[in-house]
Amino acid sequence: MKILCIGRNYADHARELNNEIPEEPVIFIKPETALLPKGHPFFYPLHTSDLHFELELVLRINRLGKHIDENFGHKYFSEIGLGIDFTARDVQQECKKKGLPWEKAKAFDHSAPVGKKFLAIDDLPDRNAIRFELKKNGETVQSGNSADMLFGFNQLISQTSKYFTLKIGDLLFTGTPKGVGAVAKGDKLEGFLEGEKLFDVEIK
Ligand code: MG
Repeated sequence: MKILCIGRNYADHARELNNEIPEEPVIFIKPETALLPKGHPFFYPLHTSDLHFELELVLRINRLGKHIDENFGHKYFSEIGLGIDFTARDVQQECKKKGLPWEKAKAFDHSAPVGKKFLAIDDLPDRNAIRFELKKNGETVQSGNSADMLFGFNQLISQTSKYFTLKIGDLLFTGTPKGVGAVAKGDKLEGFLEGEKLFDVEIK
């Protein structure tokens, strides 16, 4: 499996990092080793001293597809969950400055913890306005609504499938709202979707 990720999909987050608002989705990939195995602690990575959380809605792909028309995008997922797109911000800034790829900053081992539980999209109050929230040590640090995405789920399915064949079990991280920030050892992160807690991660 692979993890497809979207950057700068919320205008207020793009602005907080002084990035331009993109005209088409910014797409990158994390490998399967970016998942955090069940029961495995998350250790602060050795190659960064500015690790940031980015809470994101995550779609689980349930059909094989390539060159998917936007109008059929909704047929390729039925469940949604939450994940953290952990980012070594110092490494990413260095990569950006030099025009280098982002993998060391974004795709390292365990950089994509995902909640075990996914929810059926059809059971949510409004599939076009999904609310989600991240708490750090009990305080809300990110609060998002999918209605604020620059590119919606169906557009993301269509755009990513232009370049990558979507396979059953692939995950699509759909971008983070504003409020990203640093974590330190001992911090506890908890993700909520429509008020339901889907994961917690403690930084060791
Ligand atoms: Mg992200």
